[in-house]
Amino acid sequence: CGIVGYIGQNDTKEILLTGLEKLEYRGYDSAGIATLGEEGVHVTKVKGRIAVLREEVDSSVEATIGIGHTRWATHGVPSVQNAHPHQSSSERFTIVHNGVIENYIDLKKEFLADVDFVSETDTEVIVQLIEKLYEKHKNTKKAFGEAMSLLKGSYAIGLIDAEDHDTLYVSKNKSPLLVGLGEGFNLIASDAMATLKETNEYLEIYDKEIVLVNRSFVEVQTLDGEVIQREPFIAEIDA
Ligand code: GLU
Repeated sequence: CGIVGYIGQNDTKEILLTGLEKLEYRGYDSAGIATLGEEGVHVTKVKGRIAVLREEVDSSVEATIGIGHTRWATHGVPSVQNAHPHQSSSERFTIVHNGVIENYIDLKKEFLADVDFVSETDTEVIVQLIEKLYEKHKNTKKAFGEAMSLLKGSYAIGLIDAEDHDTLYVSKNKSPLLVGLGEGFNLIASDAMATLKETNEYLEIYDKEIVLVNRSFVEVQTLDGEVIQREPFIAEIDA
């Protein structure tokens, strides 16, 4: 399983699909991508191989920000409905997630009793929670940070907000995830292998940080919003 994300100048579909192909070795049962363009968010997901996903993706949809996922099902059978990306009820927020949320039943009971869920995944709880907290704060970064502070378990997460074409919201805990840096673009991936065609410069991210990935900068913060300075590193890896 794995996640990828891209924000830049070029069309994101091919970058996401190529990245997911590089993550295939990690194993998965389903896959999907979401892109955000002029016509809003476009989600494509399938049960099965990336080759099948590639065929399903509408080549006419253009976007320069997007997220992708290969799923190894832990909560809910492998199916299109349970495949990622998952969306909040209003479809404003779209998420990919690797890992297991241990307290998802508690979170559902405490915050989301009135929400209609469309999947059986622990992941959908995260994105619905972000939407619920957005209603309270009217601020995506705040909602994202508070949601992350409520999660127990393992996660690598990429989130897009349909109202913001300039930010990928990222966080991790006990699941691998790094940021790849470029000129006018940035990426996220579970494994550097997924980004090799694009860059060899990376920024390490640590557990329970909030990372805001923009086209021209990456900002790492603590859960409380304090900015953390960190130097990138170059990795010479043979593809
Ligand atoms: N727990 C999530 C699910 O079952 C994510 C699984 C994964 O890491 O691929 O959908």
